[in-house]
Parts: sequence; structure tokens; C-alpha cells
Amino acid sequence: MMQPTEPVAEIRPALEPTFAPDDSGAELVIVANRLPIQRSTTPGAEDWRPSPGGLVSALTSVLQNRQGLWIGWSGAATDIAPPTSFEGIRLKSVDISAEEYDDFYLGFSNATLWPLYHDAIRTPTFHRTWWHTYQEINMRYAKAAAASVAEGGTVWIHDYQLQLVPNYLRQLRPDVRIGFFLHIPFPPTELFMQLPWRKEILTGLLGADLIGFQVPQAAANFSRIARRLLGATGTDASLIFDGRVIKVGAFPISVDCDFIAASAADPAVRARAREIRQSLGNPELILLGVDRLDYTKGIQQRIKAVSELFADGTLDPAKHVLVQVAVPSRETDAHYERERHDLEQVISEMNGDYGVLGNPVIHYLHQSMGFEELMALYLEADIMLVTPFRDGMNLVAKEYVMCRADGTGKLVLSEFAGAATELRGAFIVNPHDLDGIKEGIRMALNATPKEAKSRMLRMRRKIYRRDVYDWTEEFLNALQP
Ligand code: UDP
Repeated sequence: MMQPTEPVAEIRPALEPTFAPDDSGAELVIVANRLPIQRSTTPGAEDWRPSPGGLVSALTSVLQNRQGLWIGWSGAATDIAPPTSFEGIRLKSVDISAEEYDDFYLGFSNATLWPLYHDAIRTPTFHRTWWHTYQEINMRYAKAAAASVAEGGTVWIHDYQLQLVPNYLRQLRPDVRIGFFLHIPFPPTELFMQLPWRKEILTGLLGADLIGFQVPQAAANFSRIARRLLGATGTDASLIFDGRVIKVGAFPISVDCDFIAASAADPAVRARAREIRQSLGNPELILLGVDRLDYTKGIQQRIKAVSELFADGTLDPAKHVLVQVAVPSRETDAHYERERHDLEQVISEMNGDYGVLGNPVIHYLHQSMGFEELMALYLEADIMLVTPFRDGMNLVAKEYVMCRADGTGKLVLSEFAGAATELRGAFIVNPHDLDGIKEGIRMALNATPKEAKSRMLRMRRKIYRRDVYDWTEEFLNALQP
């Protein structure tokens, strides 16, 4: 076993030993990169609305019940300050300048950590200036939390952008209970070891009382490397470090089941779903992919697989169609620009080779869908393709399953998505294996209605048992001493 080569104290920043809370300290504080609100995109509108998604709804509702506070960045390099309260919760905004955003967010978060934590599918970039800004911004969030939380209160920190906050906060406010949840994968030792600041990141996380991951494998990866690099002791589930016990575990995130079910049953959404099928020329079968345009999502590989199924006659351009939604993402990063370029090349080749006039074989939308439009698409998708090379969870897979109240629909799912740990009723594939993806799609095509229904109902039961509200409660219960 490798021993720590430098004392932990030396890699901690110098901090004021204590930090008094504001008068009206909050019992529960959520710290996330972004606030749970965003500026309305309607032209002329100046107002803010909640950010979409089940996670924001679930965390907002828990804060509403506890008069809590949410700390985050407003998401806009604008002089219009976000509100200090919204829908019954208090908000505290962290300022990030345009230059800091480049180094902290686009740089260290998304060009260093993101690729490194996703199997290094693209080569991670390491820059010391990015790292310094990452430290500074993490300290800013920690100070905001330290000034806001009540004596003995609870702080729940979210995701890879803020991995140093737990330890910074512990030094400022040793009285508070600190939880951290990582929404993305945590890499195996061989990859994590590349990070020049690996000890600092581990020390940052170990400032928490509870560290949660999406799947047990990620939790085990973390505990192993903490023992190996920092000399922590204890088990995978309970580490001992710096004289404290740190709980480590898997808390797979989920979706807002009732909200999705209600939306999928809404007559207007159902009418829109029928309209979508019609506008695609009433095909016998619709395959669907919905992803952020990210190199981790395996979109090109999936399209190549579908293309080969058109080539070998398994799929028929007169009857079958693929719809691919690719939501614009991180467009200033060269890797993402390249990914878009290559993806669009593959798509145009596929349509050029197999489309017929008036009937392209793939409908490609490089845009973000509203929630109801997305639900309508899920309702019409006979086969949903979710084939990331690596994904923390993948909520699209769970949302699709929750839309299929009648038990129809088939899910082809990558074994490297966190969701595969739970959704065993899916047609599981290795996204690196083109023939394997084709075989998974073939199996989905050939499954009898009875088999498909039993698979779908099994997945629905699994998700219904633990929705995103249960997830929030489970994590906060585990965080109690
Ligand atoms: N989504 C959306 N509009 C779109 C496509 C996706 O609102 O056009 C939402 C989708 O409903 C899901 C989330 O974006 O909740 C994507 O989450 P996922 O875990 O699948 O992937 P991530 O983008 O977080 O890597």
C-alpha cells in the first residue's frame, strides 16, 4: 500500500479558524454550482423561473419545509442580481466573473475533471491557473456557506465543481454537519492518479461527514484511493481520517415519478405525441435518442449501429425512423465542437445512404426541448436508445420508463450508465461494441410484446419504489449523526 508522502495539513489552505454565522442562520443549506432559478428566455421578460428538472423540485421542497437556503451562481454574467428568495426558499448568489468562469467552469470543471471522471474518453487538460481558480471559487462557496448556516446546522454540497468545499467549510465551521453528493462517476484509481492535485481533491471531499455516489462501484473507487493515497483506514462504507468517521455510500438519484406520470397522461401531451408520429410520416417504429451533445454519450457510435441495421436490411427506411435530439452543450470547448462536427458528418452520411425523398432515416434536432415536448417524444418512442460510454446515472432512461404507463416501449441501455445498475429490464449493451449495440437493438425489435411488457413493468416498479423525493430523504437521513 502506498503511504501518504506529505502531511495532510500542508496541503490545506490557511483559513480563519472560525466563522460566525449570520444572525438568521439556516438549518439546512444546499450548495450547488448553480442557483435553482434561471432568467426567463422570453424576449422582454425580466423575471426568473425555476430551473427545470426533478432534482431542483425535490431539493426546493425539502428547503421549503425547513426554511432552508440555497447557495449558487446565478448563471449569468449580468448586472441583474438574482432575487434573494424564491418560492419560499432563501437564495444566496455567489459571484463569478467571466474570466473566473473560463478557468473554474469551462476549464478545471469541464476540461479537467469531466473527461478524467468519464474514463478519460477525451484527454483531460491540466493547467495550474485553472486549478488555482478552482481553489479560489471553492473557497468562495465555502465562505458563503459558513456565513449562512445556523449553529449545528446541515450543509449539503453538490457535484464535481465543488469538491474542495467540504474541507474548507469544516475548517471554517467545525460545528456543522456536512454532506457531499457526486452526480457524475468517480473514476478508478488508475485514472484518478493522473490528477496532479489528487490529494487535495481527496482531502477536500473527506471534509464531509457523508460522501454519496450514484453507484456502489464509484463509492468503492473513492474509498480505495482514499486509503491508498491519504492513509485513511476503515471499510469502503466507513472511512476513518483525521480522527473522524466519514460515511461513504451509493445513493442512486431518481426522477419525479408522479410529475412525469401526470404529464404523460395529459391529453395535450398525448395529442402532441400523435402529431409527432404523423409528422414523421406515421412510421411503424420510432427509435429515439435524447442526449446533451457530449462526447460521453456515445451518440455517433449508436448512429453508426443504426446505420448498419439499415444497411443489412434489419431496418427498413420505409417503415423505421430514428429521431436524435442533441442538446447544445459547452459549445466553446474544442472537444465539443469536434464532436458536433463529426456527429453531423455521420448523420448526413446515414441520410445520404439510406434516406428516400421525403423520408430521411434520421431526424436530427440540435436544440433543447421543453419538458412536455420531451414527454411527447418519449410517448411515441418504440425503442429508446441510451448508450453513453460512461454516465453517472442518466435520467433520460428513467424518464422514458416512467412515461410508459401501459408497459409498452423498450429501452436499450449502456452497461456503463449508472442507471444500468437498477434497470435490469433494459436490453443492456456495451457501447464500445458496435455489433453489441446492433444485437441489443435486434433483441429489442424481436422481443415479444409479452416479454417487452414484463421488462418494462419490472423497471417501472424499481423506479417507483424510490423517486427523487425518497432519494433526498435517504441522503439527509444518512447524514444525521
Ligand atoms: N432534457 C431537457 N431537454 C432536452 C433534453 C433533455 O430538459 O431537450 C433533460 C432531461 O429531461 C433530463 C436531463 O435533461 O432530465 C438530462 O439528464 P441526464 O442525466 O440524462 O444527462 P446529463 O445531461 O445530466 O448528462
